[in-house]
Amino acid sequence: MAGTEGDGSAACCKVGRTAARYELEGLDEELAERWGGDGDSVGVRELAAEVNRRVLAEAMREAGLDPLDGEPENLLRLLTGDVPAGRRLDTRRRLERQDVDVDAVLSDTVSHQTVYNHLRGCLDVSKGADGDRLERRGSTLYALRNRTETVTRETLASLRDGGELDLDGFDVIVDVRVVCESCGRSRDLATLIEAGGCECGTSY
Ligand SMILES: [Zn+2]
Ligand SMILES: [Zn+2]
Repeated sequence: MAGTEGDGSAACCKVGRTAARYELEGLDEELAERWGGDGDSVGVRELAAEVNRRVLAEAMREAGLDPLDGEPENLLRLLTGDVPAGRRLDTRRRLERQDVDVDAVLSDTVSHQTVYNHLRGCLDVSKGADGDRLERRGSTLYALRNRTETVTRETLASLRDGGELDLDGFDVIVDVRVVCESCGRSRDLATLIEAGGCECGTSY
């Protein structure tokens, strides 16, 4: 299975792996265009939600289902949103009875930070026409972060394959957080840069 087409092992990051696994064609172009465009560009939260809807829709199709418009969105809300535990479990059981691997789908979904890092670090997309210094230097940091994730994943996989590390499937998350010494809050790097600084300095 190693190196076969579509397993995403050569992908840039989790977004790339998920896109390869679910054959989300044209995803990079679509993300870059919708996020990087001037004017009415779409935020990373909405983009991540859309990637995840496409993941679930594709998993449903692979299971022989024919998801209706809006159905994956609603199912994801029931599976991950703020709903009573009983409803969440019912939704999960119903999908599992229909041969949808809910655990696999949920572990392949992406967060808005991951989408942001993918746009900036992997695709080198800037918001707006020509990126300013903040955006350019930001890209360097995201690329470094993604590289750390990739090298860590590859090293762990090779140790595991050599029998030196006891680990089945795994995922690596590199979370760079910055603490503002004025207010003591910590934020992840992407949020801080996208917001242009800490809120405590701008909200007064
Ligand atoms: Zn990527
Ligand atoms: Zn602050």
